[in-house]
Amino acid sequence: MHLSRFPRVRLVHGPTPLEPMPRLSAHLGGPTLYIKRDDCTGLASGGNKTRKLEFLIADALQQGADVVITQGATQSNHARQTAAAAAKHGLDCKLLLEKRVSDFGEDYEQSGNVMLDNLLGAEIVSRLPAGTDMQKAMEDFAQELRAAGRKPYVIPGGGSNAIGALGYVVCAQEMLGQSFDMGLRIDHVVHATGSTGTQAGLVTGLQASNSRIPVMGISVRAPKQAQEENVYRLVQATAKHLGMTHEIPRETVAANSDYVGAGYGLPTPEMVEAIRLTARLEGILLDPVYSGKGMAGLIGLIQQGHFGKNDNVVFVHTGGSVGLFGYRNTFA
Ligand SMILES: *Cc1c(COP(=O)(O)O)cnc(C)c1O
Repeated sequence: MHLSRFPRVRLVHGPTPLEPMPRLSAHLGGPTLYIKRDDCTGLASGGNKTRKLEFLIADALQQGADVVITQGATQSNHARQTAAAAAKHGLDCKLLLEKRVSDFGEDYEQSGNVMLDNLLGAEIVSRLPAGTDMQKAMEDFAQELRAAGRKPYVIPGGGSNAIGALGYVVCAQEMLGQSFDMGLRIDHVVHATGSTGTQAGLVTGLQASNSRIPVMGISVRAPKQAQEENVYRLVQATAKHLGMTHEIPRETVAANSDYVGAGYGLPTPEMVEAIRLTARLEGILLDPVYSGKGMAGLIGLIQQGHFGKNDNVVFVHTGGSVGLFGYRNTFA
């Protein structure tokens, strides 16, 4: 693999720490838990989209864009990180937000990521009803901007395409390097999966180096089967983009959708408990939409005996704690 062939801007304060979570591990009675701190990627509160944006913003600049367009749910962490990355590189940023979570109150609509989108100078162009074809809405808007003489670059939701997923191929390599330095045998990787770029990049990166570490994505939205198919499609596209010549087996993609609850962005008691535990035992802030459900999944799998007592399990913290401010009542 030769990642330096791809245009990249530097946004990540990396490598992000790979740390043990001794108090949470002891509380749960094993396995030994570690956390990859991708909440600490450094860009305007950090999170996993920053790694993807290193490649996406570089591509936008190479194509001569002067404005980026992206989309997400109202409390999108991706929208906030895109706003920051665009600001840093002198690009305008236009956001289309989907009301995927309805009637959640004033904090959800205005605080957290929404407040920071505005602070970072992005324009919230529209707030569209749940179920809108957001990709089409972005393309229509890009067309309007082109007609007005602008050069828009459309970033898909979550930054999840073969370009963005390269950010998590980089993370896989980084984590393998750290595990070697630490003398740490990683037996499992677990993280929250949504728009699929994180898992697709990790799986592709781990497979490219023949590491055979299983990755479990805890779905925050789609049912298991659909999520696995979506991730695998992006694994194949990413491997192709990288110029890999061997096929990555379908079995390398595993998702669990038992922790979604009533739907995307809707709180579950397990999520609230996982966030409280991690805050109070490790001083680490998770988020209500993604990493909180991801940690609820990890805890649930531990309780079901999914891991060996002596396994080393790495939880990838994908960020998002800014979103907590949209959910004040959930934690009151
Ligand atoms: C977007 C996001 C995820 C999911 O990552 P995908 O690459 O979209 O699957 C997980 N956690 C947080 C905090 C996110 O913002």
